[in-house]
Amino acid sequence: MTIVQKFGGTSVGSAERIAGVAQLAVEAAGRGDRTVIVTSAMGGVTSLLVDAARRASHGNWSFDERPALRARHLEAAQALFGNDRVLVELVRDRVDRGLDRVDSLCFGLSLVHELTPRIMDAISGTGEMLAAPLVAAAIASRGISSEAIHATELIVTDDQFGDAEPLFDATRAKAEARLGPMLDGGVIPVVTGFIGATADGVMTTLGRGGSDYSATILGATLDADEVWIWTDVDGVMTANPADVPSARTMRAISYSEASELAYYGAKVLHHKTIIPVQSAGIPVRILNTMNPTGEGTRITPEGHPSPTGVKAITSIRNVSLVSVSGRGMQGIPGIAARAFSAIAAERASVLMISQASSENNICVVVRSEDEVRVVRALRNALEFDIMKSHIDDVTSDDSIAVIAAVGDRMAGTPGIAAKVFGALGEEGVNVIAISQGSSERNISLVVPETDASRAVRVIHDAFSLGEKS
Ligand code: ADP
Ligand code: ASP
Ligand code: MG
Repeated sequence: MTIVQKFGGTSVGSAERIAGVAQLAVEAAGRGDRTVIVTSAMGGVTSLLVDAARRASHGNWSFDERPALRARHLEAAQALFGNDRVLVELVRDRVDRGLDRVDSLCFGLSLVHELTPRIMDAISGTGEMLAAPLVAAAIASRGISSEAIHATELIVTDDQFGDAEPLFDATRAKAEARLGPMLDGGVIPVVTGFIGATADGVMTTLGRGGSDYSATILGATLDADEVWIWTDVDGVMTANPADVPSARTMRAISYSEASELAYYGAKVLHHKTIIPVQSAGIPVRILNTMNPTGEGTRITPEGHPSPTGVKAITSIRNVSLVSVSGRGMQGIPGIAARAFSAIAAERASVLMISQASSENNICVVVRSEDEVRVVRALRNALEFDIMKSHIDDVTSDDSIAVIAAVGDRMAGTPGIAAKVFGALGEEGVNVIAISQGSSERNISLVVPETDASRAVRVIHDAFSLGEKS
């Protein structure tokens, strides 16, 4: 079997956790699996690098985090294989080189005072380059050959820095050529998650949380039998356990359910994770490094139908509701088309759309970081209609959250929306906008951000999702 196993930030967050990863790699080798490991940065490292880059671009070059980052990686190396001087030296060299690079980039930023997405990627993707040698050395110290590989050698992407898209044919050729011989020779490659490179070799990232995506990209290009995503919870749960303490792990869900949940805020999966494995039907498992013998969640094309129709509830925060409204909009063709083209030109993704049937208003939900740009673009694109008073104004509100109820069997099950609204109404949660996709796998609602956790809990209870189905 060829299996790609991805380990998230908590799963490689300390010497003890990395020892657990190495143990799982040894077990895979014992079973005779061809294993590719994909590693995230140690927990919290990416955010520290992002902060350092931002500060440097404001003129403060100091990279104060450097000593602590160095100590964290080298102390883990010492605890894991301190008796092997060669391995310790190798890790020290890689860590110092990675940190030197960040230092130089930050110095450059402090001079130019400008932080482009391209430089941000070069800095934020370094955390994985520090972690991979550590994980590979921990495996090697247990007698199994292992080598750290930068995904810049494997994953070819476009140049959409900060949110790059893989180019599959080019990636397949590189991944097969680089990893194939290693796997055939019984070597376990430890690949940096999150990063890739353009065809001319410029480093890119796949967006925050992107190591999950790296794993399925490699799984698809290597024709893997399965992709295992190891994290810090038992699997994909019926809600974020931080919102709903009674949330339960789901044993099996479908590709479409996993994609909807990830898209609508279930952080356990990067929102594009399922795309690469979809056409080949490669199963994905979500497993817990803290409970390695648990069953986890199995994600397959068909999943497992649930009797209630609704399987899980998610929430997305840090989003804004942008509204185009005006009585004069009625019957004027093309306003929606122009509005959506303007949003697309800003490369802002629209998480939800809702239009009142009276055509008095069109609302879209976008990420709050895109709000100002989207409002400006809409005002420009609709300037003529605003002048003619077809449109009163383009307004925005960032004090909202989106809640989504997701499940394949919602399609064709009557009464789900009534139950959702009934439950929210009884609790006095005000619903600002609603939207149901025509696939009927998802109902999304906009609620005040301050009510988001409560709304998730109420809907979770209304469908008894905390009880075993
Ligand atoms: P990793 O570092 O392993 O990639 P993440 O922090 O990215 O882990 O994702 C795991 C976290 O996702 C969990 O600890 C949990 O807090 C959060 N989460 C949000 N929604 C869900 C959900 N529906 N099921 C499971 N975890 C969820
Ligand atoms: N280290 C990156 C992040 O924190 C990618 C990942 O963990 O998946 O966003
Ligand atoms: Mg993650």
